[in-house]
Amino acid sequence: MSTPVPRPAIAAVPPYRPGRAAVSDDLKLSSNELPFAPLPGVLATATQMLGRMNRYPDAGITALYDVLATELDVEPDQLSAGTGSVDVLYRTVAAFAGPGDEVVLPWRSFEAYPLAIAVTGATAVPVPLRRDATHDLDAMAAAITERTKVVLVCTPNNPTGPVVTAAALETFLTQVPSHVLVVVDEAYVEFVRHPEAASGLAAMRARDNVLVLRTFSKAHGLAGLRIGYGVGSRDVIEAVRVAVPFGVSDVAQAAAIASLGERDAMRSRVDAVVAERDRVAAALRSAGWEVPVSEANFVWLPVGERAMDVAARCEPVSVRPFAGEGVRVTIGDPAANDLVVEALAGGL
Ligand SMILES: *Cc1c(COP(=O)(O)O)cnc(C)c1O
Repeated sequence: MSTPVPRPAIAAVPPYRPGRAAVSDDLKLSSNELPFAPLPGVLATATQMLGRMNRYPDAGITALYDVLATELDVEPDQLSAGTGSVDVLYRTVAAFAGPGDEVVLPWRSFEAYPLAIAVTGATAVPVPLRRDATHDLDAMAAAITERTKVVLVCTPNNPTGPVVTAAALETFLTQVPSHVLVVVDEAYVEFVRHPEAASGLAAMRARDNVLVLRTFSKAHGLAGLRIGYGVGSRDVIEAVRVAVPFGVSDVAQAAAIASLGERDAMRSRVDAVVAERDRVAAALRSAGWEVPVSEANFVWLPVGERAMDVAARCEPVSVRPFAGEGVRVTIGDPAANDLVVEALAGGL
């Protein structure tokens, strides 16, 4: 008797392995979440929307697109929202790449990238980061072949922290053929303080083959509601909008709009995380750790084979080890950050 056989690409996708469960939310420095409770106004708006849960959401996501279009100075048809920017990433890769095609990506970078590529049947072409944990954009440009359909750029890079500079991105984009889509993932853009950081939006305005990914999961603190978006040229976005209908709930849409309306509160929370990030990085460096400059809400310890040991030393705080590569520590409450700094005070 035969059984249903999945496509080879699906059978080859490695299972997603979540990190170990955290002792408590306060001690969970493993998922780059915002450590603050929801803003009262955002929570009230979302709670009110729950009262309409018998209704389908607005499938056109019109109210959010109008607000974002004004905010970003683009047209509403240049936007595609999804259940997190990971959803938009999956749809983007699937829209432009399939079996026989190649997708160039930096590595080590975001764990979802190889999965998003694998499900399409396209071939991932990982390009190692440089020694300083930044993208090797020259090597990425050199990795582009006639099969390349998509290139992923992550700035700041998760899990290592550095940004791509504006000059480096511009030089890179001049080397990418105009039929190759460049995805600039800006999940942590609100935390960037580097004066020469690249702007994905500026690059997108200058070139039709650039798509920017943004999310409400990090600075806006809405990770559990699952909402993020892509911004690009109309033609690219038309393809990316091919999605499961009604994916983004009205609760998520309303909370996102409310959060955009509380810009000042959001910014002051992000400022607090940035100050903590710089404090933690400085403390770890003075304890002898190598810490690349982070422009996001985490710091990276490139400890290679010692990753699992270093993560164990941080317990009861959960951090995120990448076996054989390093450890990513999310910036949380000062008390939790202090526990990590104390645990690692002796150096490697
Ligand atoms: C967290 C993250 C995202 C966004 O995730 P969603 O919650 O799906 O919006 C996207 N890219 C990177 C690099 C991230 O770290």
